[in-house]
Amino acid sequence: MMANINLSEISSLIKEQIKAYKEDIHTENVGRVVQVGDGIALIHGLDQAMSSELLIFPNEVYGMVQNLEEDCVGAILLGESSKVKEGDVVKCSGKILEVPVGDEFIGRVVNSLGQPIDGLGVINSSQTRPVEVKATGVMDRSSVNTPLQTGIKVLDALVPIGRGQRELIIGDRQTGKTSIAVDTIINQKGKNVICIYVAIGQKESTVSNVYETLKEHDAMKYSIIVSASASNPAPMLYLAPYAGVSMAEYFMFQGKDVLIIYDDLSKHAVAYREMSLLLHRPPGREAYPGDVFYLHSRLLERAAKLNKSLGGGSITALPIIETQAGDISAYIPTNVISITDGQIFLQSDYFYKGIRPAINAGLSVSRVGGAAQTKAIKKVSGTLRLDLASYRELESFTQFGSDLDASTKARLERGKRTIEVLKQDLHKTIALEEEVMILYCLTHGFLDNVAIENIAKFEESLYLDMKTDEAGKALACQIQETKQLPDENTMNQYITDFKKRFM
Ligand code: ATP
Ligand code: MG
Repeated sequence: MMANINLSEISSLIKEQIKAYKEDIHTENVGRVVQVGDGIALIHGLDQAMSSELLIFPNEVYGMVQNLEEDCVGAILLGESSKVKEGDVVKCSGKILEVPVGDEFIGRVVNSLGQPIDGLGVINSSQTRPVEVKATGVMDRSSVNTPLQTGIKVLDALVPIGRGQRELIIGDRQTGKTSIAVDTIINQKGKNVICIYVAIGQKESTVSNVYETLKEHDAMKYSIIVSASASNPAPMLYLAPYAGVSMAEYFMFQGKDVLIIYDDLSKHAVAYREMSLLLHRPPGREAYPGDVFYLHSRLLERAAKLNKSLGGGSITALPIIETQAGDISAYIPTNVISITDGQIFLQSDYFYKGIRPAINAGLSVSRVGGAAQTKAIKKVSGTLRLDLASYRELESFTQFGSDLDASTKARLERGKRTIEVLKQDLHKTIALEEEVMILYCLTHGFLDNVAIENIAKFEESLYLDMKTDEAGKALACQIQETKQLPDENTMNQYITDFKKRFM
């Protein structure tokens, strides 16, 4: 009896073991470099390599698989490519390329591989994340519902941005694109938003200026700069935004809010083109336009607002695109316009006329941010876009100097004041209650009898008054806490009193 049981047990044991048997032969996938240069290597023999896999070269140089062809593999080199020679042995690592991530990066300037370049010593992080991951799916997201205050009046009023949104900043060179992004970072102080500024193909001096500005405004305490400057090889430029967003995802999945700036994706596309040509991809249609769309869409799709069960974190992305002579119909601008949830369009002639930020309100839109805009701002800026549009129309019409009726004159005067109020100096972002108060003054006619040249002074005194006068302080507090527009009588009373003090 006993023997029988043992026999059947033994046979089932053996069967189980046979089932669970795994070949323990470890083969290493090895190849040899056949061609190297410009940060690119062609390798023969890596027939089991995966796309985006990390490759190990001699002398601690790493690479990332880009092209999988029948007889060779094309890879980008990360690090000092001069150390790689033809004939060198290359090993597959079996891993997708990863970058280090973590809280330790806050306050630092790093390259596309997460290595410090600010001379402040090593960064000890214990975690990594793959640079390429699938974006969060629809079911894991929630709709945009929390504002990301830029502190820039014209944006918060007309092109509101919500946390988790992707909003493009687009304009010719030297129109204030970087400044808008940097000021938005500065305005996140005390708002629990971690900011990542990714510099792609910028001059090193520009990046160090951004760093100094952020430091000056105490903003490096919650910011990271990822930089692949113009002097870096194309693969590093290509990688920079993906490295940045991987760092952002680390925070987002902890339930935190992140703002990420890609400055700029035009240079990113150029770097990608260079890389593609060096990898011998055909320069025709499939190698560039289609690829570039995919390049930028899979990057920007990673911006998200997670739902509550995933912690509710978010990544808000502000990509920047440089246009040539205001041409937004070129294909890289149209690509990114179609991927993002709206655009902030900057216009050179406004900039030269002194209308700064040089935002064209007619061409700038925010498709989802309205849902997140605070009630108070929404109420005071309702007629703003219309005021501006009708002013622009009248302005060209009245150039001919005909006699104007009273109502046309009034609209012209209101328009001029609107433009004046929406101007804002560099690095002078303001609080929500200040935005609400000045826009209320504008749209309720309190500025109509203030001379244009006195408006800047009016604004400054008003903000000061809101910090010192009892009624002013109470209103400021109320707006800040409730995010609602206070009772109109109280507002009118306070502003009338203030005007008496000011005039
Ligand atoms: P580039 O094409 O070189 O990247 P950009 O479009 O990013 O330029 P910025 O570098 O932000 O433009 O700004 C160009 C110049 O305009 C800077 O010298 C900056 O100081 C100035 N500037 C930008 N915004 C304002 C503003 N609101 N008020 C005054 N000056 C401004
Ligand atoms: Mg710039």
